[in-house]
Amino acid sequence: MKAVICGAGIAGLALAHRLDAAGWSVTVLEQAAAPRTEGYMIDFFGPGYDVLDRMGLLPQLQEHGYRVQALTYRDERGRRRASLSYARFAEMVDGRLTSIMRPDLERILRHALPERVALRFDSRLTRIDHRSDRVDATTADGTVHRADLLIGADGIHSTVRRLVYGDERHFLRYLGFHTAAWVFDDPAVRAEIGDEFALTDSTRRQLGCYALRDGRVAAFAVHHSSDPTLPADPRAALHQEYADLGWIVPQALAACPPADEIYYDQVAQIDLPYWNHGRVVLVGDACQAVSLLAGQGASLAVAGAQTLADELTRALGTTPDPTAAADPTLLATALRRYETAMRPVITDKQQVARRGARWFVPQRQWWLRARRVALAAAGLPGVDRMIVGAMVGRSRT
Ligand SMILES: Cc1cc2nc3c(=O)[nH]c(=O)nc-3n(C[C@H](O)[C@H](O)[C@H](O)COP(=O)(O)OP(=O)(O)OC[C@H]3O[C@@H](n4cnc5c(N)ncnc54)[C@H](O)[C@@H]3O)c2cc1C
Repeated sequence: MKAVICGAGIAGLALAHRLDAAGWSVTVLEQAAAPRTEGYMIDFFGPGYDVLDRMGLLPQLQEHGYRVQALTYRDERGRRRASLSYARFAEMVDGRLTSIMRPDLERILRHALPERVALRFDSRLTRIDHRSDRVDATTADGTVHRADLLIGADGIHSTVRRLVYGDERHFLRYLGFHTAAWVFDDPAVRAEIGDEFALTDSTRRQLGCYALRDGRVAAFAVHHSSDPTLPADPRAALHQEYADLGWIVPQALAACPPADEIYYDQVAQIDLPYWNHGRVVLVGDACQAVSLLAGQGASLAVAGAQTLADELTRALGTTPDPTAAADPTLLATALRRYETAMRPVITDKQQVARRGARWFVPQRQWWLRARRVALAAAGLPGVDRMIVGAMVGRSRT
């Protein structure tokens, strides 16, 4: 059986690995000309961590991951106003937590793929021709990739979703924030933040930094905006939003690269009425984006990939043959079970993210003060569980 996966991000690469292991012939189409080298830090824990363990990739995850000591909020003069120990956070998830740069996680998944998986960069999917017995995915250069199943693992602004379901504005829930991330060189800033995730203790917007192993600094910014429209010049927009925050912020802004090297997007979730249509199915942010406010999108993308592969194997066996693919009811059963297993988890995480938004970036001084008090109390037994529970949600699979 032949699967074409659109998107070599976290979901697409994890799925390629799992489907190949289940006996599928797999092609992955990626629009970027080469693997991504820049990005942002991801806290990786929960169901995706467990899947990487099953894949035997924990040693690589630990080698490339970071042991952040604490999340600290600093005022405009750099004084600590509140903090949360990562060790405590790690305890709550049985130590199964690492922080890792998104390109490093993608590299681990990519390197784990056997050579028989066809990974095609510079291959932007532009068209889908869908029939009852097959699906054709066409890329911008005119190449047609024929498959038994096409999987859209192409992120929150998915092309596969648009071609099959229509315009994203019907499914994208804007959460009222813009976010940005970039990487820069500044030894003084790096020394200032040490091994912490250091954030501004500010209302309406916040900028945080991590020190990277290669001597650079990864910056991450998020701010309220009632307007979802992205600015024409992200660099100028960042200067305008954050310039008065003090502490290390002027240096982070001064080192901000040109627009095409900055990650800049809305903070949003995807809410689709159903995740598959015939021989096309979605995985990862394309159908289940929870947003960075949930802090688990990557983990859930991996978990979704594993669940989809498991359900396909349950329905079609470990050496799926093309005649089984000809029976659309078997595929339909697998795809329905995949959605039934994942959807409640996603709904829960999306709610957690929306509820937590006022804590994540407080709109008013009152909420900022309340957050300081809550974090000061986090050292007390019981309160720590409540805080981490509120952060990670009820269900862990
Ligand atoms: C600032 C920030 C911080 C975050 N922090 C965390 C965190 O702490 N923990 C966590 O678990 N998650 C976090 N997330 C969420 C996480 O990054 C996403 O949930 C995850 O990357 C989703 O993976 P994906 O593979 O579904 O999509 P993506 O990573 O978006 O990958 C999609 C891929 O598809 C490709 N593509 C798109 N269109 C096409 C096309 N037409 N043809 C071919 N290829 C195409 C893209 O180039 C890309 O490579 C964060 C997100 C942000 C923005």
